[in-house]
Amino acid sequence: MSRALRPALPAVLLVLGAGSLFAQSVYTPGQLKPHQQVAHDIYKELIEIKSGVTTGNVTTAAMAMAKRFKDAGIPEADIFVGGARPEKFNVVARIRGRNSGRKPLILLAHLDVVEAIKSDWSDDLDPFVFTERDGYYYGRGTADDKAMASIFVANAFRLKQEGYVPDRDIIIALTTDEESGAFNGVAWLLENHPELVDGDLVINEGGGGTLRNGKPLFNSVQATEKITTNLTLRVTNRGGKGVINLKVTAKNGPVVNVRRVADEDEIMLVTAKGQMIRLPVKDVRIIGRATQGVRLIDLHKGDKVAALGRVDENGNGNGAGEK
Ligand SMILES: [Zn+2]
Repeated sequence: MSRALRPALPAVLLVLGAGSLFAQSVYTPGQLKPHQQVAHDIYKELIEIKSGVTTGNVTTAAMAMAKRFKDAGIPEADIFVGGARPEKFNVVARIRGRNSGRKPLILLAHLDVVEAIKSDWSDDLDPFVFTERDGYYYGRGTADDKAMASIFVANAFRLKQEGYVPDRDIIIALTTDEESGAFNGVAWLLENHPELVDGDLVINEGGGGTLRNGKPLFNSVQATEKITTNLTLRVTNRGGKGVINLKVTAKNGPVVNVRRVADEDEIMLVTAKGQMIRLPVKDVRIIGRATQGVRLIDLHKGDKVAALGRVDENGNGNGAGEK
């Protein structure tokens, strides 16, 4: 699992019709209903395609699913296959709905998987051989995220078969590179083919259903996810004197306040005599090491900066009074 669209999207694993954990009769090994068999076959096909994020080929999986969409009855004009790199294609299929004016529902899953090395696995299991044993499925991607992708594709079959016309388009986007940051997947689609993935609501991985003794136990919903923060820190020797970032002199005076800000923030400076100035952070030049700083305000004689605050989006000062 990973990011790009994540912070803005509800991440929910939706278990739809085919293979549903909540269907009237729960799945019985060896006794699959026709639509469950379709889901099972797609699942097996996907697991056995080596789509490891660095050594695999996701395009093979994207092409295989494009064929499935075509077999399901989706016109070729509504199936897109493409991507930034020959081995990292995405597939996007659209099931046309009634023209109700509502924007599409997007079902998003990824086709790439975390790398898997046979020697890391039990002797009798191969990460790229779909294995069913003791009520569990084994294989790389059985949980993340090829089950979801298979369920989406299987549902395309069932929706078309039953002649179901939704009140909005349903877009199924099966993407590449999710495990490495989504650059060739969701981000690439948004940048190069925004019309293919323009919807109102996206359902993504993150939640899931659980059975206990064959009975539905719970269905979890994930609303958000952690994201990565990268920091670059300079190393100093033990017993060193640290790092000088600002030269304090008679000209610039003592430090009044230290705040962490982002480019999109605004800051407000307040002087002892009540002068105020508000300005966007992006207008403040970034200084190198150990300078005397940047001039942001012209002070009247005898006045001095008393406080610095970050302005939030409602225009309220944040911490303006802190020293
Ligand atoms: Zn995932």
